[in-house]
Amino acid sequence: MGIKRNRIVVKVGTSTLTNELGNSNLRTMEQLAMTLADIQNMGNELVLVSSGAIAVGANKMHLPERPREMRMKQAAAAVGQCENMFLYDKFFGYYNKTVAQILLNAEDIAQEVKKENLANTFEALLEQKIIPIVNENDSVSYTEIESEDKLFGDNDMLSAVVAVLCRADKLIILSDIEGFYDKDPRLFKDAKLISRIENIDASTYELAGGAGSRRGTGGMRTKLQAAELAMSQGIDTIVTNGKNPEALYDIVGGKKVGTLFVAKR
Ligand code: ADP
Repeated sequence: MGIKRNRIVVKVGTSTLTNELGNSNLRTMEQLAMTLADIQNMGNELVLVSSGAIAVGANKMHLPERPREMRMKQAAAAVGQCENMFLYDKFFGYYNKTVAQILLNAEDIAQEVKKENLANTFEALLEQKIIPIVNENDSVSYTEIESEDKLFGDNDMLSAVVAVLCRADKLIILSDIEGFYDKDPRLFKDAKLISRIENIDASTYELAGGAGSRRGTGGMRTKLQAAELAMSQGIDTIVTNGKNPEALYDIVGGKKVGTLFVAKR
């Protein structure tokens, strides 16, 4: 079955959801909820892929720094996931929207039966105008947290997998930077934004550098991997800054924002 028009997957990273102190960035979360609620009111179907559980949990547990030990990371993920969903439920609730939590592991997508069940769950939720909020099940799996040899790698890849599963027509990755540049703008002041990419190859990956910000995890490399998967399945991917969730209106309105990775048709 083909792509579902007006179905959008939005991914938001830790660096957007938390501030420099590691606290929840309530203003951004509220603006994001308001904008997504409004975009749904305009006739779109939405899925939100949200990370941030470990950072928020560590903060709530008053840990002095982001935990290094696996069991502590997984404990923090359990606490932070609860806090994030509480905030989302509250903020989306202001705008009369119902949200649902979906936690996934790599094997849920690898097995055909589970994959089909999951796709059906998404369909049922979207049919009811519910906004599914997806994260990797970090307290059970450690693919995102630690493993080098990983399927989802981080939520960038998870968001592309979800976009394919839901047959979305757009994947929007909200990051802490305006889009994809010709070199890392944190290291090079003269870096230039690339507004459109039609093909991702080895030379594109060379521009991406290593892992990203202190609070984020993937950097641009995992966003390129996500875009590559989505593009190959006919899904346009846009990378832009999450600090200004209102840019989502422009994207839905077809305006140029951030970097567009053009879907293969
Ligand atoms: P998020 O939490 O949104 O996933 P990350 O910190 O993981 O964010 O990734 C974004 C970071 O990737 C940027 O802040 C930037 O420092 C880094 N980066 C490396 N290469 C590039 C590039 N070519 N264009 C843009 N950002 C880049």
